[in-house]
Formats: sequence, structure tokens, C-alpha cells
Amino acid sequence: MENHLNMHKKTTALIHHPYVPPAGFAAPQPGVFKASTVFFSNAAAMRRVEWKDKTGYTYGLHGTPTTYQLEERLCALEGGLQCLLVPSGLAAVATVSMSLLGTGDEVLIPNNVYGPSKTLAQGELRAWGISHRVYDPMDPQDLAARIGPKTRLVWLEAPGSVTLEFPDLLEMVSVCKAKGVLTALDNTWGAGIAFEPFNLTPGSDTALGADVSVHALTKYPSGGGDVLMGSIITRDSNLHMKLKLTHMRLGLAVGANDAEMVLRSLPSIVLRYQAHDIGARELAAWCQQLPQIAQVLHPALPQSPGHAFWKSLCDNRPGGAAGLFSVMFKDQFSSEQVDAFCDALKLFKLGYSWGGPISLVVPYDLASMRGAWPSHLARGTLVRFSVGLEAVADLKADIGQALGAMA
Ligand SMILES: *Cc1c(COP(=O)(O)O)cnc(C)c1O
Repeated sequence: MENHLNMHKKTTALIHHPYVPPAGFAAPQPGVFKASTVFFSNAAAMRRVEWKDKTGYTYGLHGTPTTYQLEERLCALEGGLQCLLVPSGLAAVATVSMSLLGTGDEVLIPNNVYGPSKTLAQGELRAWGISHRVYDPMDPQDLAARIGPKTRLVWLEAPGSVTLEFPDLLEMVSVCKAKGVLTALDNTWGAGIAFEPFNLTPGSDTALGADVSVHALTKYPSGGGDVLMGSIITRDSNLHMKLKLTHMRLGLAVGANDAEMVLRSLPSIVLRYQAHDIGARELAAWCQQLPQIAQVLHPALPQSPGHAFWKSLCDNRPGGAAGLFSVMFKDQFSSEQVDAFCDALKLFKLGYSWGGPISLVVPYDLASMRGAWPSHLARGTLVRFSVGLEAVADLKADIGQALGAMA
């Protein structure tokens, strides 16, 4: 019995230990602060605390030193002033739409939008009485014509998912600004490196850019294919507060270990992005001369849709494009033959997402993704490549040997 009591005393000492390590510890990697509960020094402090700004701490859901540091660094990456972290890129898209739209409102999305963003509009948004219209991102006049009295938000993406058409982003933002409609850019491809989401007119006095930048940190900021996370970045404190209140009410938060993984990867993001870009451009250009391929989609290729807009916004330096490109196999090849090509690849793995060291490939059935076949795309089966960090010569050899499996 006495021994049992002593055990209890030990437990208390293990929980309430008086030792405090010396302050001033400094090392390259920020500490990982894990908390749901955060302590207050007294009841008055508990009552006084303000969770809406970063002047203190109230509860893990509202931020820790680890998440505050990640938010600030992501603002530096994208040229923003405020940042919210969410558990995935798709959660970032959903949070923005849920926060800025209500029953009776309308949202516009591009016809080449990230697929699940369209599904969200067709599912929950429609069920909540929020309508959506699809616009042609390669025609700003089409966008302008579709903005109506109910339009509250326009989603932008540059380039489009999968088909990689690069739009006239500046013109589209100008159209929306002139009509007083908010713009939210899915900036996962640009990642804050290929172009500045909040300043599409560098050098001019009045920065013109998106109102909100959403980023799937799952991709390049993670860089490992092992973390899911998203960010919502703004440059307007009122807009940020509207988004932040929704974010809080929905109870969205990210884990400290995941935040640390992204903090660990961020210092190398520019170098990694440049390396992915160099590899993808070389492979894309090489694929153009393959007899099995009808069209190569990469905004840096002069024949690719929207190349001129890419060039005016991103220029030609390494880091001006992400490591993605798509190819359209000639119509004579069946989708089974294209599947056989994908299956035969050895270094390229079949898998969704991108941004890690391993090259990935996905065959897409474009006909099921678009209302009508886009006139600027050759007919055929589309395959998207995400170029990792392997030697480009090895990736070329892999594609070369896999083409043999199509015969
Ligand atoms: C991957 C991706 C997302 C979603 O990110 P998840 O973290 O996978 O949810 C959103 N938009 C684009 C353009 C993406 O590529």
C-alpha cells in the first residue's frame, strides 16, 4: 500500500517537474510545439487573451509557435500578409468557398480546374444553394460575360490542371476587379516561385493580383510525398478575418509534426522547384519528337496553349515552371495500349499528386473531364508526368523502354 502511494508521488513529480531548461536555445530547425491545451498564468489572463491575432496563445486549434512560424514563412514565399493552415490543399479550396459564398451566390470556375474543386461545386455548394458556372480560362471575354449579379467569387488556376493551358491571368484579374468580384487563385503550380500571385505586374506602382492564394502544401512545400496540408494566403486583413472565422468554426488545424516537416523542407523549395523545372522542360521537349505522341503540353513549349501568357508572366529562367507536363498519345493508340505504357514504366510510378523526388505518371480520360473536347487539344489519350529529381537521361530511357510495351 505504501509503495503504491509512493508510485503516485512519482507520477506527480513526473508531470509537475520543477526543472526549467535555460532559455536561449538556438538551432537551425524551429522547435516542434505540440498542444491542444495551452496554460494561462491566471484567470484574468485567460479571460483577456485574444485568439484572433498572433499576440499570444489560447488553444492548439488557434496556433502554436510552430504553426505561426510556418504561416509567416509561407507569407514570405507567396508575398502575402496573412496565412491560414488547413489539413489539405482541397480543404483550403473548400474553406475559401464556404467562407466567401452563401445561399443564392454564384461562383465561377475554369473548365480546366483541379477536378475535386469542380466536384465540390457540383456537390456541397449546389446542395447549399450556391450555383456555379464554368468559364473558358483561355478567353477573358467569356469570363467577363459570365460574371453576373450573383457572382461573388471567381476561381483562377494557372496553368489548368492536367491540360496545362496557361491563361492571361492578369487580364482575368483585371476583369474581376473591374466588376468588383473577388478572385481566388489555386497557386499550387506556381508555388510562389514561378510568379507572384499578389503582384502580376512587377515593376508597376499598383500591384494587381489575386485576392486569395490557395496552395496545396502537399506538393512542393512538403517535397516528400508524405504530408497533406494546405494554405490560404491573403493581403487584406478584413478578408483574412472572414476566412479565419470560418476556419475556426470548422475546427480546422494541422498537426505539429506535419508543420515541422514543411518547415524542414521550405529552405530548399526554390532549388528543388528549379531542378524539377529543368528536368521537366528537357523531357517535355524530348517527348515532342516521339512518333507515338501527337502533342506535348508544357507552358514553356512555344506550341503549348497559352505559351505567350506564361512567357510574359514567368520568363524563361529555371524556376519559371513546375515539373509537370502532359502528352497526348496519337488517336491510333487505344487507352489499353496507353495503360500498358504506364504499367511498363519503372522509374515513373503510377500515383496522384506531385512535388516529391519520385517521378509519377497518371493516365487521364479527358473526355469524361470536359464538357466538349477542347479545340486546341489533339484527340487521343492524355498522360500526365510529374518529373521528380532522378537523372533526366534515366527518365528518358524509362519512357523509351515503356513505349515498346504499346506495340
Ligand atoms: C493537389 C492539388 C490540390 C489539392 O491538394 P491536396 O493536398 O491533395 O488536397 C489542389 N489544387 C491543385 C492544383 C492541386 O494540384
